[in-house]
Amino acid sequence: MHEGLAAELSEVIAEPARVLTATAVLDRLSHDFYWYSPVLRPQLVNKTGDVAVQPVSVEEVLGVMRFAGQRSIPVTVRGAGTGNYGQCVPLEGGIVLDLSLMDKLEEITADGVAICEPGLRLGALETQARKQGWELRMYPSTLVKASIGGFLAGGSGGIGSVAHGGLRDFDTVRAFEVVTMEDKPRVVLHEGAAVHEILHAWGTNGVITRIWFALTQAVEWTQWSAAFDTYEQAFHFTESIAVDGAWTKRLATVFEWPIPSFFTPVKQVVREGKALALIMIATEQAGGLSAAAALAGAEVTFSGAYQGPRTQPLLSDYTWNHTTLWAMKADAAYTYLQCGFSATECGEQFRLLRERFGNEILFHIEFMKSGDGVVFPGAIPVVRFTTEKRLNELIDYCREIGVFVANPHVNYLEDGGRFRADNIQLRAKQKYDPRGLLNPGKMISFRKEAVSR
Ligand SMILES: Cc1cc2nc3c(=O)[nH]c(=O)nc-3n(C[C@H](O)[C@H](O)[C@H](O)COP(=O)(O)OP(=O)(O)OC[C@H]3O[C@@H](n4cnc5c(N)ncnc54)[C@H](O)[C@@H]3O)c2cc1C
Repeated sequence: MHEGLAAELSEVIAEPARVLTATAVLDRLSHDFYWYSPVLRPQLVNKTGDVAVQPVSVEEVLGVMRFAGQRSIPVTVRGAGTGNYGQCVPLEGGIVLDLSLMDKLEEITADGVAICEPGLRLGALETQARKQGWELRMYPSTLVKASIGGFLAGGSGGIGSVAHGGLRDFDTVRAFEVVTMEDKPRVVLHEGAAVHEILHAWGTNGVITRIWFALTQAVEWTQWSAAFDTYEQAFHFTESIAVDGAWTKRLATVFEWPIPSFFTPVKQVVREGKALALIMIATEQAGGLSAAAALAGAEVTFSGAYQGPRTQPLLSDYTWNHTTLWAMKADAAYTYLQCGFSATECGEQFRLLRERFGNEILFHIEFMKSGDGVVFPGAIPVVRFTTEKRLNELIDYCREIGVFVANPHVNYLEDGGRFRADNIQLRAKQKYDPRGLLNPGKMISFRKEAVSR
């Protein structure tokens, strides 16, 4: 059956080498980092597509959509497959649409907007942008591998978000073209506010094929770290840097002990038993930051230039969701949550969580700017997993005390924390994918029968 499908797909994909059916290849192209979640692991391990295709042009994407639409075959888009919740895992088989070969950077405009194809790797864009005096406003810690299309469709923010907010904010995503799964698939331009219909919708309501992405002026950065006796001291110091607009920063991260003990390749920046702050600071301010840290009683453990994604050591490799990876390497019983603490009540929220859950939750803070300009403690806490019931108790309790949770242990958009309450992503799905063929099962509020109304 796979071979028959593959043979037919050669009608729309020019080279047979770009239609893939080998079991191991399909397994790889059908999965991401879903195994981060002990809850999702058994649910998704055996899910695969029937065939994978690697288009090189929007015409080929249109051809695949027509082909699949006429035969009612599901299509699941894949960028680089670094998503965490099985976002690109096909639940109902069908075609995996791997966009990694559509990776051209067309241009960076004079006012700093990158125009590119979705498969472009963020690391390649950062490198090229910095050569032209620009850089990414924000990027996930998977910078080197992740594609820009996958970031827009599945990510939320990352390094840079302390200054520039998330992907939803400050008009960073200027526009993109989307291929639809209508009876007659077409290319539609979404610009301005209309990008929010497709952004972070996991490829359930259109395939992004061309992107206009705003950059920011490049800064000479220093990667910097300091060890503090207590988590509270590290938190307050880093918060003071994060919220003060006078400091030019790209990253403001805090780890309580024992999280730093998991970072075995960069032992030199860690001090036994101490909390750690990692900050990317404008090089001209690095001296001032070290002086401020000394006054706060901290020991500066590292200060070195950032020279792009290939910098060694690259301290961002220990931040955002990479932290969870190091924790899981140290002890497979660890997993994580994605949280937002209150800018004003976080001290009490930390206290309540510690009182109720002890060291089942370890604090890992990533300061972020919200769309209305407030810098708050975002967090990807490391969590010791015992049972799904206990994990849900923790999530429920966080929400009860006002801690926002984007649940990374579900495989559908609605509980993942970025689903739009105004339902514009759902309405776009009803319009562009009325038969529910795009990444089926991931937008659970979508009902096929609702379409005809
Ligand atoms: C160690 C680790 C650290 C991470 N850190 C961060 C972080 O700091 N911030 C963050 O936001 N995320 C983070 N992530 C999640 C993920 O790496 C990013 O969101 C990344 O940008 C996803 O890009 P990708 O190309 O791998 O997308 P994929 O995983 O391939 O796809 C993600 C989703 O987008 C859809 N999709 C892909 N391309 C398109 C397209 N062109 N059109 C429509 N839909 C499409 C897919 O179907 C899927 O639903 C992390 C993950 C890991 C494993």
